[in-house]
Amino acid sequence: MSLLTGATGATGASSPGVAEHLRLADAHAAQNYAPLPVVIAAAKGAWVTDVAGNRYLDCLSAYSAVNFGHRNERILAAARVQLDRLTLTSRAFGHDQFGPFCAELAELVGKQLVLPMNTGAEAVESAIKVARKWGYLVKGVPDGRATIIVAGGNFHGRTTTIISFSDDPDARADFGPYAPGFYTVPYGDAAALADAIDEHTVAVLLEPVQGEAGVILPPPGYLGLVRELCTRENVLFIADEIQSGLARTGRTLACEHYGVVPDIYLLGKALGGGVVPVSAVVADQDVLGLLRPGQHGSTFGGNPLACAVGRAVVTMLSTGEYQQRARHLGEHLHRELDALVGCGVTAVRCLGLWAGVDIDPTLGTGREVCQRLLERGVLAKETHGATIRLAPPLVVERDELSWAVAALHAVLTEMSRDDTTPTSVFLLS
Ligand SMILES: *Cc1c(COP(=O)(O)O)cnc(C)c1O
Repeated sequence: MSLLTGATGATGASSPGVAEHLRLADAHAAQNYAPLPVVIAAAKGAWVTDVAGNRYLDCLSAYSAVNFGHRNERILAAARVQLDRLTLTSRAFGHDQFGPFCAELAELVGKQLVLPMNTGAEAVESAIKVARKWGYLVKGVPDGRATIIVAGGNFHGRTTTIISFSDDPDARADFGPYAPGFYTVPYGDAAALADAIDEHTVAVLLEPVQGEAGVILPPPGYLGLVRELCTRENVLFIADEIQSGLARTGRTLACEHYGVVPDIYLLGKALGGGVVPVSAVVADQDVLGLLRPGQHGSTFGGNPLACAVGRAVVTMLSTGEYQQRARHLGEHLHRELDALVGCGVTAVRCLGLWAGVDIDPTLGTGREVCQRLLERGVLAKETHGATIRLAPPLVVERDELSWAVAALHAVLTEMSRDDTTPTSVFLLS
């Protein structure tokens, strides 16, 4: 394996150095992220190359938006064909990629209708609107009284409405006034959910597996109980599969692992093939069929390029090949990560090729681990302080995964040694 060797032609002659790139971003970009100090210029498959020609194994995959690998040939080919034909019409007119995309995605997911949007947050917002309309028109909730129940520790996006029901202080603070109509119950607690549902509840909105919270898996039986409660109480079950969906967990949809079928699926991230933002609300006629012309829309939602890329993604998913890869590679990753428990790792949670690794806080923060992994050629991102989420592209090879886990092991060993330094210094003095 060639690691950290040789420029791949990524460094254009006119390209300024790493420090200059970082300086420009520091001086002229809003500081709403704290990126690791790497400046990526090119990528292929599971690997990225920085402006200095260093190569890194991507263990984040743009939060699972690059599930099929960077610049996947089949997705690029579909995009190129479409770029040479038609890119944008608006939904004021029909186009020849729209119907086929909706039909193919609906078939893959097992629902009747698709509402294409762009970002994940827009899909969430769209589902909130549709669920409320269903509540008034079908369930008979009095006008303006519809409520939606969400789970603690959720991540559903960044709009003003969505952050209103986040419990992450960074996501919320100073962005009020907050949207009313949402109640939070602890994730995994079906009894609390049962207590919270009343006659005004129109929907329960959940991530089947909480990604940003640190790959938190649902307790056994939980999602089945959520489904039963929703059916019994006449409430829509909305599954936000924007991060968990589209092969990441080893199934097309994470809900399949738990034998549940929600009323509404939210998809995004990987649906855009790592090329363009594509999201969708997918549900049956009795729910999505309530939308009439003029009630919802998006200039870019369902555009020809997005639909062509989305069709390539759906075709690739329809063979089950990527889901199987995620399962097999995930088992391997899980085994190797489990061996680190007790060696600087306190817990590991895995589903498919998706892992939450809790770092022993006495060693250091998740951020420090990620900084040291970067130096060893592995790109990963901490979430909520002490957890590192690993989600490499599904095209990664087994030995590359082993190499990344070995790098993590080396980093943890290094940090535990650093940790003892002050003590030894103390003893020597
Ligand atoms: C990323 C994410 C979103 C928001 O998607 P954006 O495209 O960033 O707006 C919503 N829900 C979940 C579960 C996500 O992981």
